[in-house]
Amino acid sequence: MIEARDVGRRYRGGWALRGCTWEVPAGRMAGLVGPNGAGKSTLLQLTVGLLRPTEGELRVLGGPPAGPRLARIGFVGQDAPVHRSLTVAEHLRLGSRLNRTWDRAWARRRIDELGLDPHRRAARLSGGQRAQLALTLALAKRPDLLVLDEPVAALDPLARREFLDSLAQARADSGATVLMSSHLVSDLARDCDHLIVLGRGRVRAAGPLTDLLAGGRDLEAYVLEQLEEAR
Ligand code: ADP
Repeated sequence: MIEARDVGRRYRGGWALRGCTWEVPAGRMAGLVGPNGAGKSTLLQLTVGLLRPTEGELRVLGGPPAGPRLARIGFVGQDAPVHRSLTVAEHLRLGSRLNRTWDRAWARRRIDELGLDPHRRAARLSGGQRAQLALTLALAKRPDLLVLDEPVAALDPLARREFLDSLAQARADSGATVLMSSHLVSDLARDCDHLIVLGRGRVRAAGPLTDLLAGGRDLEAYVLEQLEEAR
């Protein structure tokens, strides 16, 4: 689903990522973990085609993340990106105009199940509701790959759990591959079966959790160990 070979990305201030080689096989729920500033957002924006690599090669769904492939990728950026002045229903209308593969009936049903008032403006939703709206918009285009940048970072513990529950449910229903970042291992521990550990712009570990944690190692201790080595 995703294959990255020696990917690097330089900004004006220097390299944010360097020599990153990693992959996510189809059907996985992959977690991307690393401290703030490690390069997680940069790596995710490269994956969804919002940024281009400065060096190396990144293939998503068999080629660079561009053109018609983008229709098969759903992205939930940081801080539940919705339009504050638009209502829930207006978001759905906008989504259906912008996405050829938009599943209108599914989107309406999900908004209904979440108990979101279609006439409410996004600015008046709670943080958890805004995150759920952003997730609905990303899923309604029926993506093969869903990428989420710290989707629960700003949520309280209950909203956090509800969001992760609905993500797990949506993934089970759709079979989509998921790549989600967090700076907290605990957000990823429950549902992820694949892990990428990023520290100071480099991939410190990557692979199926069962391989990384062979011998019954604790996930949190493992990640800390990898990041300690990177210091
Ligand atoms: P994370 O998501 O793990 O917090 P980021 O990918 O946001 O990490 O940032 C990685 C590094 O790249 C940081 O040092 C950050 O300051 C830098 N960076 C991120 N975006 C930009 C940008 N648009 N211009 C310049 N530097 C950036």
